[in-house]
Amino acid sequence: MKRAVALACAAVLLGAAADAAAWCRMTTSRRQPTATEPCVLPDPSTDPPEQFLEWRRPCNSVGLSVAAPSRDLSELEVAGVLSRSAATWNAVSCDGVPVSYELRVLGERTTCTGPHYRDDGGNVNSVQFVLDWAERMYDANAFAVTTVWHRRSTGEIVDADLDLNERRGPFGICPDVGCDTRTVDLENVITHELGHMLGLAHSTDVDATMFVSAVAGETHKRDLHADDVAGICAVYPPGRPEGDCDPTPIGGLDLDCSAGCCTVAPGRPSRAGWPLGLALALIGARARLRARAARRRS
Ligand SMILES: [Zn+2]
Repeated sequence: MKRAVALACAAVLLGAAADAAAWCRMTTSRRQPTATEPCVLPDPSTDPPEQFLEWRRPCNSVGLSVAAPSRDLSELEVAGVLSRSAATWNAVSCDGVPVSYELRVLGERTTCTGPHYRDDGGNVNSVQFVLDWAERMYDANAFAVTTVWHRRSTGEIVDADLDLNERRGPFGICPDVGCDTRTVDLENVITHELGHMLGLAHSTDVDATMFVSAVAGETHKRDLHADDVAGICAVYPPGRPEGDCDPTPIGGLDLDCSAGCCTVAPGRPSRAGWPLGLALALIGARARLRARAARRRS
């Protein structure tokens, strides 16, 4: 298994044109975005050929962990935020046609404390708050990290798990106009992370929900930008994925992450035939971005 973390590259991306298509898809590639190649495209000459990541089933579900809850918000408050963020992505229309995918929020809670996938048993896409962030070797500046499990040979996403960094909080629910510069708006973060869960990588458009960085107190990532809509419509054009809606995870629904194998350890080597976990983070930006965001709010 492999975990690749997108590090803070906000400074080199700030100059990108806001009007051009700037969205980017996640791929099976192990190459990281750079200043000259901010969007990694699949290389068909590799063995197996690199692929874009996408769900191949129209409905998926995500649950909130009771084993790793928020220190700042109640379970009901977090569940409400998760539902609003999922609804934001579910409400997309592509040229007037509603998207075929649907991300449902489970009424049941999970016991997950981190990314977890089993090829030989039940699974659940889980959202949890993490205190031992450094021990997991995540970027210390990240507000959150989403691990997207996929099959390297096909690019099919099979599971996705969202870790929120309690060391970068406190997380809160800001007014629409934003918060003070200390509170991190949870919906701003989760809406971005659900974009990864659906297969989008980082956009170079600073106004997009999928832009790589955020500042504490900002709320504009709650709402999708035209660039985000263009990106998700490219991943899931009208009518795709095909099939009936069944949000049961691959292998069946198992809310208990403590059972079985395959919880990810960062840096653990890949194992052939097993799905890979590709992790992307929303990075807390520093002063330059903060000034830009403040101007946008004013
Ligand atoms: Zn991100």
